[in-house]
Amino acid sequence: MDCLMQNYARYPLTLVRGQGSFVEDDQGKRYLDFVSGIAVNALGHAHPALTKAITEQAQEMLHCSNLYHIPLQQELAQVLCQKSVLDAAFFCNSGAEANEAAFKLARKYHADQGSERRTIISAVDSFHGRTLATLTATGQEKVKYGFDPLPAGFDYVPYDDVEALEKAINADTAAVVLEPIQGEGGVHTPSENYLLEVRKLCDAHGVLLILDEVQTGIGRTGTMFAFEQAGIRPDVLTLAKGLGGGVPIGAMLAVQKVAASFSAGTHGSTFGGNPLSCKAALTVLSVMESENLLDNVLAQSAFLLEGLKALQLKYSCIQKVKGKGLLLGLSLDGNVGPLLEACRTKGLLIVPAGPSVARFLPPLTVNRQEVEQALGILEESLVSVG
Ligand SMILES: *Cc1c(COP(=O)(O)O)cnc(C)c1O
Repeated sequence: MDCLMQNYARYPLTLVRGQGSFVEDDQGKRYLDFVSGIAVNALGHAHPALTKAITEQAQEMLHCSNLYHIPLQQELAQVLCQKSVLDAAFFCNSGAEANEAAFKLARKYHADQGSERRTIISAVDSFHGRTLATLTATGQEKVKYGFDPLPAGFDYVPYDDVEALEKAINADTAAVVLEPIQGEGGVHTPSENYLLEVRKLCDAHGVLLILDEVQTGIGRTGTMFAFEQAGIRPDVLTLAKGLGGGVPIGAMLAVQKVAASFSAGTHGSTFGGNPLSCKAALTVLSVMESENLLDNVLAQSAFLLEGLKALQLKYSCIQKVKGKGLLLGLSLDGNVGPLLEACRTKGLLIVPAGPSVARFLPPLTVNRQEVEQALGILEESLVSVG
């Protein structure tokens, strides 16, 4: 019957259309969507500006090879460089590919310097993707089983532990790759000064700092990029998920001295940065400005956080409320499955982050009434799972 590979454990649900913060299944039942395709549908579903932009672009040109100049790609690179204060961009199609490109660039940069530095240090419980190199960088054993031999040149340190990183950095270290908030690994927010201290360590040792903002980037945490809140700038930045608002696109940005190592012929992608995906990303970024979505993220985040903290006081199964902006999590004292199922039955979609964390990733366009409704369904569900 099912000709698909069974690599996803799917929920018994088939979603066929969406509008704003709501989706509808094949039975006509509506759900409040606090998953957003895992932080992808930044503008919600069927946003008129995005729909119009990609429709018009399809009538003009969908794809053009990187054999030729692509003005929309140059325009998008310019906007992202200006917003991130980085110097140059490379476009691909996913988060894993953006990280893959970042690892290649970091190694090539050191090779070009005549240095032996090749090792990439990542954090325990991180998530960086499913390609061989990015799953190797991912600090979770469960994603690696059966895929050996894995690429060499990766090392791991506990997250939010500056001393451990200081001990791990040596003459082989090319780069440190970190998520500003660990998303898939359980919505871990590090201590206030962590990224700043990591930045100092990297500078002191000639090591590149790669920030994986595939999930935290594009406004998700209340600033365009989460690193802005740490008062630092990475050498290399990776983006994907929310960037295209649902059209697949990934990006890897870098400071000029590092970016220069991707000279002609060193890296590439057939689809990367084609006119359709760049048009989508440019539209997402322009709507974020015209609709003041960063302000909305902060306002709805405060409201959702307040509601989650109130529930924590009432329901002893909630251990912790965590995260920033509209990347929020509830740690439970047991498996999160029954709560997710109860919410789904009552019309709210949320997503797990590890076995015991419920993650809330509403569209950046979510409004107060929808957050209120979600909190109501969540409370009913907490009551029903006891
Ligand atoms: C989702 C995610 C990735 C992988 O992105 P894909 O588009 O699935 O390849 C990488 N890093 C982080 C932090 C992510 O959340």
